[in-house]
Amino acid sequence: MFQKILIANRGEIALRIIRACREMGIGTVAIHSTADAEAMHVRMADESVCVGPPAARDSYLNVPAILTAAEITGADAVHPGLGFLAENSRFAQIIEDHGKVFIGPTPEQIEMLGDKIQAKRAAEAAGLPIVPGGVELIPDAIAAAAAAEAAGYPVLIKASAGGGGRGMQRVERAENLARAYEVASSEAEAAFGDGSVYVEKAIDRPRHIEVQVLADGKGHAIHLGERDCTVQRRFQKVIEEAPSPVLTPEERAMIGEHGAALARNINYRGAGTVEFLYAEGKFYFIEMNARLQVEHPVTELITGIDIVEQQIKIAAGEGLPLQQSDIEFRGHAIEARINAEDPERFIPSPGTVERYHPPGGSGVRVDSHMFQGAKVPPHYDSLVAKLIVYGVDREACRARMRRALHEYVIDGIVTNLPLHARIIDSQDFIDSAIDVVWLERWLNSQ
Ligand code: ADP
Ligand code: ADP
Ligand code: MG
Repeated sequence: MFQKILIANRGEIALRIIRACREMGIGTVAIHSTADAEAMHVRMADESVCVGPPAARDSYLNVPAILTAAEITGADAVHPGLGFLAENSRFAQIIEDHGKVFIGPTPEQIEMLGDKIQAKRAAEAAGLPIVPGGVELIPDAIAAAAAAEAAGYPVLIKASAGGGGRGMQRVERAENLARAYEVASSEAEAAFGDGSVYVEKAIDRPRHIEVQVLADGKGHAIHLGERDCTVQRRFQKVIEEAPSPVLTPEERAMIGEHGAALARNINYRGAGTVEFLYAEGKFYFIEMNARLQVEHPVTELITGIDIVEQQIKIAAGEGLPLQQSDIEFRGHAIEARINAEDPERFIPSPGTVERYHPPGGSGVRVDSHMFQGAKVPPHYDSLVAKLIVYGVDREACRARMRRALHEYVIDGIVTNLPLHARIIDSQDFIDSAIDVVWLERWLNSQ
């Protein structure tokens, strides 16, 4: 097992990984920008190294500085967390070239899955149902028109290197296609440094259902069931739950097996998430995220498996002793992403936390780096906490979420706590009569 892990991240996810390391008896090194000198992940780690000024490109994305931090502290492995360098194959390769272990998939797997066209081809090869269209790179507007006709309108033009809900253009009819193609490819170039786009059928009012997988890198893979992440705003997840309230046991077993089959087929290593859209009883693969995911705790609560511990053990060469038959699902879990943002206009709200009181009690888990006096810098993601609750069933879980949201005090910054309280008590959420654009429709109708 590793002696010391450097965590190349910040915020709640850095804490999450530090906590796993501490429980496993592994030393930890935090990195931080000058804006985060007093941050909780720095306080909680055994050692810390400042890697640069506030802007992420100069600190949390500063590969030479992070590598130097790993060298001087003698870390034998690097956990990238999520976001930042987590899906950067060059970073994973550099870590390995310096004789350290990158806790994640191989650089080749990161590169392949980071290209959504290649990922769809791999999914298709593994027998997964994919969204119609989109296994070819679209070189120009003429090819885009042909692909759109083949897939059938409405279509989405998607950036092959896209992520975080960015890089998608919806096109309703043929006459709008050429212009949308130009916009999509130039935006993709600006946002991801890669203008490659593909065309996919826009599925009508789908749900987002994804499968958590674990794999040993040698062809053994299992799934930990699904998460339903249908409550989204601008293609970004707001609330996630497990299990999905709408799947039959047969659908659950089938989609889980599809996720594991993809991981097995590509000899995937580590933890990953296979994402699908679900509409009218059909699943459509959209992408695979080659990393830990923000919403992993809901799966941990219903399976009892510590996903970060599994990542670390696989990376350390201990393999994956778990078999599919070891995995049992119990109860229901819901996660609310608490962001430092205005709950009506969705404008980020950086600042200093004046008063802080997290909820507690039975079935409540708070993954957060907040404390009284904590600074929320304007430079990074606005996620300040994940409130995750467990209950014997969905209704018990919802009641607990309502109670926990009510207990939560975060003063000094504006958060979306009130929005979560409204969503979980809305009739559509209670009935789970929702789709990925439901939240926006519902907000407009209020
Ligand atoms: P998906 O990309 O499928 O929506 P997630 O919801 O887990 O998966 O994360 C969304 C994206 O936002 C991730 O790709 C990650 O890069 C980024 N991200 C989310 N939360 C954070 C955070 N706390 N710190 C850094 N990056 C984050
Ligand atoms: P990202 O890498 O940004 O996470 P995804 O391909 O995972 O991109 O898609 C993010 C979200 O965008 C999905 O959860 C869904 O809400 C929406 N979306 C993506 N592809 C389609 C599609 N073909 N039809 C309808 N909605 C889609
Ligand atoms: Mg996605």
